[in-house]
Amino acid sequence: MNITDINIKNQTVLIRVDFNVPLDAERKITDDTRMVKALPTIKYALEQNAAVIICSHLGRPKDLSSNSEDRIKYSLKHLVYHLSELAHTKVHFIEDTVGSKVKVAAELLSRGEILLLENTRFYIEEKEGNEEFAQQMASLADVYINDAFGTAHRAHASTAVIAQYFEKDKRGFGMLMNAELTNARKLSQDPTAPVTAIIGGAKVSDKIQLLKNLIPVMDNILVGGGMAYTFLKAQGGSIGNSLCENDYLEMAKDILKEAEKKNTKIYLPEDSVIADNFAADANTQIVDSKNISEGWMGLDIGAKATKVYLEVIQNSKTILWNGPMGVFEMEAFSNGTFTVAKAVAESTSKGAYSLIGGGDSVAAINKSGLAKQVSFVSTGGGAMLEFLEGKELPGVKAIEG
Ligand code: AMP
Repeated sequence: MNITDINIKNQTVLIRVDFNVPLDAERKITDDTRMVKALPTIKYALEQNAAVIICSHLGRPKDLSSNSEDRIKYSLKHLVYHLSELAHTKVHFIEDTVGSKVKVAAELLSRGEILLLENTRFYIEEKEGNEEFAQQMASLADVYINDAFGTAHRAHASTAVIAQYFEKDKRGFGMLMNAELTNARKLSQDPTAPVTAIIGGAKVSDKIQLLKNLIPVMDNILVGGGMAYTFLKAQGGSIGNSLCENDYLEMAKDILKEAEKKNTKIYLPEDSVIADNFAADANTQIVDSKNISEGWMGLDIGAKATKVYLEVIQNSKTILWNGPMGVFEMEAFSNGTFTVAKAVAESTSKGAYSLIGGGDSVAAINKSGLAKQVSFVSTGGGAMLEFLEGKELPGVKAIEG
C-alpha cells in the first residue's frame, strides 16, 4: 500500500526517511539531496493535516555512550533548521528516539507540524532489529510510512521490524520508496527489448550476483571498469597491472558460458586507456585490452570499445546502468564513463527507458550534468543493487507481508 491509499487525515504518522546526509566539520549539510527526495511524502502528510513524526539514521555512530563525540557529530538536531525551511513548518526536535519524553512530545505534537526524533542508530537495538524498541517507536503513531529506500535492504527496527505493529491498512510506502520500487520492477518485469545493462566499477566480486541475475533478463551486457580485467584474464588476455581478482577467474568463465547459453551478449572492452601509474598525470596509451604490458594498468575503456558500447546503447529500448567504465574521477580516464552517460541520455530522449542504479554511476551522471535527461536515478545504491540481484528487501517485505 502507498501513503496515498491510506487515510492519514488528522492522524499521527511516523515516517521513516533516509536523512543520512553528509555534514562538514561545522555540521553544515553539504548535500541535501536525500532530504529533498523525502519532501513529497512529508509535504503530502502535512497537507493531510497529519501530525508528522520523522525518524532516520545518520552516519555510523560507534560510541553510543551519552555525550560521546559520535552523539554530537551524528545528532539529527543538525538537520532541524533546514528541514523546517524545506517543509515550511515548525520542526520540534527531541533528543531521544523512544521513551516517556518522546511519548509526551508525540502526544503534544500539533497537526501540520513535525517532530523529528533523534538518530535511530544511537540505540544498538536499531541494527539488532529489537522488537521491544520497534514496538516503542510504533506506539507513537497511528500510521507507519517507510520512505527510506536507501535502507530497505536492512532488517533494522525502524525500517522493517516496526511494520508488524501496524495493521495492513495503517502501514505503507512513501512516495520515494514507491517510485524506486516501480522503476526497479520496470526493469525486472517485462522490459521492452532490446534490454541492455551497463555494468562497471572496481570489483567483479561485488557484481557477480547482479550479473547472474541479469543474464536471463538482458539482451546485452556491456562490461567496463576494473571488473572487466578479471574477465579478460579469464579469456587468456595479458592485463599487466590492471585490477584483477584471481579467485574469481573461474566464476567469470562460468558467467560468460551462462550468457552464451541464454543468448545474452556480454561485451568486454576491446581496447583500454592504460596508464603507468594510478595517477591523474600518469603516462597513457590506448592498447588492445588483452595485450597490456607489465607495469601498465587499464583505467578506462578505449576509443574502439567506447564506439561499440555507444552503438549498443543507441539501439536499446531499456537500459540499466550500474558502475563507471573507468576511473572517472580523473579526467584522463573519464571519457568512457561520460560518453556512456551521454549515450544513455540520448537514447532516453528517443524513447528508451533508462535506470541509473548504484552509487558511482549516480555520481557520474550527476557530474555529467545529465541526471535530468535519464528516466530514473535511484537514491539507494545498496538497496537497488540487492533488488536487482533478485533479493527480497526486508523493508519492502515488512510492509507488504
Ligand atoms: P564500485 O564502487 O565497485 O562501483 O567502483 C567504483 C570505483 O571503481 C570508482 O571509484 C572508479 O574510480 C573505480 N574504477 C573504475 N574503473 C577502474 C579501473 N579500471 N581500475 C581501477 N579502478 C577503477
